[in-house]
Amino acid sequence: MSSMRSLQRQVKRAKEKRAERFEKYNVEKAKKKATPIVWAKMIYICVDCGNWKEMYLENTLERHNGENHKPVPFVIRCPYCGGFHCYDRSGLIPLPAERPLEEYESYFKDSKKYDCGVPVYR
Ligand SMILES: [Zn+2]
Repeated sequence: MSSMRSLQRQVKRAKEKRAERFEKYNVEKAKKKATPIVWAKMIYICVDCGNWKEMYLENTLERHNGENHKPVPFVIRCPYCGGFHCYDRSGLIPLPAERPLEEYESYFKDSKKYDCGVPVYR
């Protein structure tokens, strides 16, 4: 009976260790991927081909906090026809809460190299 209890203890410890490793792995994975956090979206419509594109905003863009305001362009290259007449038609639409960007969503990236959000199409 005592060996049974010791075995159960060993199994429990192994499970805990595995859970710990798994948690560590997930955190590392999220750090490596650096998933952008978004807070709002805008809808752009192309006057050439009529397609529209939903663009999410990284959480540091278009925040009206005085001198640090970093905007996004009101006209972007159309991801469908390649023309440069894709205009913002919605204005800022704040999301109910900040959230990680989904892999299939297009967004404006806050790149240190530019003083304006950079479109990333997906
Ligand atoms: Zn177009």
